Amino acid sequence: MSYAEQKVRVYLTAEQLSARVKALGEKITADLRGKPLVVISIMKGGAMFAADLVRHIDLPMEMEYLYARSYSGSKSTGIVEVERIPRLDLKGKNLLLIEDIIDTGLTMDTIKVEMTKLGAERVLLSSMLSKPARRVVEISIDYLGFEIPDEFVVGYGLDYNEDYRNLPYIGIYSET
Ligand code: 5GP
Repeated sequence: MSYAEQKVRVYLTAEQLSARVKALGEKITADLRGKPLVVISIMKGGAMFAADLVRHIDLPMEMEYLYARSYSGSKSTGIVEVERIPRLDLKGKNLLLIEDIIDTGLTMDTIKVEMTKLGAERVLLSSMLSKPARRVVEISIDYLGFEIPDEFVVGYGLDYNEDYRNLPYIGIYSET
């Protein structure tokens, strides 16, 4: 029995995730051809999705990382901390932000404001998951994996107090 089974119910299997990631990578490849590309993976949650997604993007690219957090346990604190914002000159380049999940949208709203200052030609967003029911600010997601209901999910990079990031699937977490 998997260590996670008691509290985590599988919602999206590893096979479903990888098929979707491949399709997104192919779409991004077709859309963003022609301009230099910089991808920024939003840590820690976006790490796994980003690692898989970039391997399906058949374009030259530069990779950067940025840390953001707003959750404590399964509750959003509403306060977004963004650390290690890369100081890049993105003039004439496309910037693709890679995130695990858009929930209230507050994290991505804050990040987008900072990233737009770097002067990229276009700032695009890919998120593996979106919880539209929870949105507080409107965020347009250019490349979305899956819309999910208002449940707390873990796995494939997403944590509960730093646990479960290593699960190959996405599951719904519950205490009981
Ligand atoms: P937002 O600022 O959009 O409310 O939240 C974005 C961040 O909150 C995500 O990058 C993620 O780290 C965290 N988050 C939001 N919903 C969930 C969830 O269902 N599970 C986990 N593990 N983290 C979440």
